[in-house]
Amino acid sequence: MTEIPAPVQAKDWTVDLLVVGSGTGLATALAARERRLDVLVVEKTKYVGGSTARSGGAYWIPANPVLLRDGGIDTHERGLTYIGNVVGDTSPQPRWEAFMRHGDETIRMLERTTPLTFFWAEGYSDYHPETPGGDAAGRSCEPKPFDLRELGDQRPRFRPATMEAPVPMPVTGADYKWMNLMMKTPLKSIPKIVRRVIQGMGGLAIKREYSAGGQAIAGGMYAGVINAGIPVWTEASLKRLVTEGDAVVGAVIEQGGREVTVTTRKGVVLAAGGFDHNMELRQRYQSESLKRDLSLGAEGNTGDTLAMAEEVGAELANLDQAWWFPAVHPSTPDGAPAILLAERSLPGSLIVDKSGRRFLNESTDYMSFGQKVLEREKAGDPVGDIWLIFDQEYRNSYVFAGGVFPRQPLPQAWYDAGIAAKASSPAELASAIGVDRRALEETVERFNLLAGAGVDEDFQRGNSAYDRYYGDPTQTPKPNLRPLSGKLYAVKMVVSDLGTCGGVMTDDHGRAVTSSGEPVKGLYAQGNAAANVFGHSYPGAGLVYGYIIAKHAAETTA
Ligand SMILES: Cc1cc2nc3c(=O)[nH]c(=O)nc-3n(C[C@H](O)[C@H](O)[C@H](O)COP(=O)(O)OP(=O)(O)OC[C@H]3O[C@@H](n4cnc5c(N)ncnc54)[C@H](O)[C@@H]3O)c2cc1C
Repeated sequence: MTEIPAPVQAKDWTVDLLVVGSGTGLATALAARERRLDVLVVEKTKYVGGSTARSGGAYWIPANPVLLRDGGIDTHERGLTYIGNVVGDTSPQPRWEAFMRHGDETIRMLERTTPLTFFWAEGYSDYHPETPGGDAAGRSCEPKPFDLRELGDQRPRFRPATMEAPVPMPVTGADYKWMNLMMKTPLKSIPKIVRRVIQGMGGLAIKREYSAGGQAIAGGMYAGVINAGIPVWTEASLKRLVTEGDAVVGAVIEQGGREVTVTTRKGVVLAAGGFDHNMELRQRYQSESLKRDLSLGAEGNTGDTLAMAEEVGAELANLDQAWWFPAVHPSTPDGAPAILLAERSLPGSLIVDKSGRRFLNESTDYMSFGQKVLEREKAGDPVGDIWLIFDQEYRNSYVFAGGVFPRQPLPQAWYDAGIAAKASSPAELASAIGVDRRALEETVERFNLLAGAGVDEDFQRGNSAYDRYYGDPTQTPKPNLRPLSGKLYAVKMVVSDLGTCGGVMTDDHGRAVTSSGEPVKGLYAQGNAAANVFGHSYPGAGLVYGYIIAKHAAETTA
């Protein structure tokens, strides 16, 4: 990769809107510029894109125009019913109602202001599809592969991917499911793989660099920002908010040891991500057990803006929450966890805690998985080591942890690090991983009985359409359940996360509010810097609130 150009030199400046953070903040900048606001984006790291560029790039919006265009059937009313049921009283209703009201316009704005086009990820079920208003066909959409060369000479400034395929190929979330199943569904999987390899490798031959997921969505937004002439200062950190009376009127930005003041006519938008890598805050607000930094969020997300917002009177909320994600325990002290998504739903596998017993529906959505582990912690009954156990047929059939292909042995480094074990019986596996022998034998025996019958009476695995999405469709009618037999494997798991989702409490315009609900003049927050609009539940990133904030700022007198 070519060298990153030197950052544009920061200087004292006046703008309408200052956006702090270049992930979902790019959507805010685009919406603001469309409404003729002067906007500036400042980004702490040398890369534009934040966690947004690392993400799967899927957005979840009920009845959104892309979903309807692609043949989905949904209404805003059903979406509201679902959100109301899932969120309950964990977030004020006007916030999520505003999300629903502005979802369509946000997507249209992105299609107008960026080169992006989207498609409906049909079948990627809501995470709680059986809840009234829930949708088993799903409401998530993804960007179509996007050519990063459209970023021109700014390409080196764009945050690189972390989840790269072994060969250049743009893998969408919708592709992932089928690529994982390549041995079981070759007729469906292989054409998808071939198509993406042709697009990736063939693209390179004609000087295109197709990317998917978060690389596409953040890359496309960055292209829009470049085309709109919106300045983005990199290696430029928000240090302090500037106030006049009780209003925020600007910010002090530091770049290369030098401080400049940006004065704002309309406001400062905190889009600076969560406190993913601030272990002191994570232990304080989430759990003392979080000793090691296992977050997959971008490295700049250290919660810088929380104290600054508090200082000007903003309320903080939801700080105990994160987008938890089960993963393979790192095999080295400084290694990263490898996420486990479909792996938990595929038949011939189960998960046990330190007692050698199952403790949840393995296929549950990733956020609920983490919440259950943390709940046990809070109840004084920690789960301890978590092990994903599977048999040889499972190993021969599915891709594991994104990089271990069917029939390929688990990496030797995993065995050496004590995060993997293999054995010829449950009893032998129990001694290898240090759990009670009788308990593990009983667990496998009971699981096999239920799997044979096809009904998980204990944890309801496979009952939900979400569980079945990542199951093995060749194994109907039980795509998630099969008795384990023969050689067994165990892989140690951790609860990693995609970032924290607690922060500044905002109102339905995205304005920061005080504990009495009064807006803090001139201060907005979105994405992971704000308290999750959906309270303690999934989903999603701050694209919609970026749009809402820009709209509000444009309609408000300076
Ligand atoms: C592997 C992975 C997969 C994911 N998949 C999905 C998905 O498919 N769908 C979905 O909805 N969500 C997904 N997520 C979560 C989603 O990516 C985040 O919730 C979202 O991107 C957060 O956006 P943000 O703008 O709040 O933060 P970010 O995109 O992280 O942007 C914040 C930026 O602010 C910068 N910053 C921090 N402090 C300062 C400061 N003081 N001054 C200036 N800049 C600062 C940071 O460096 C960072 O670049 C995923 C996340 C990960 C890690």
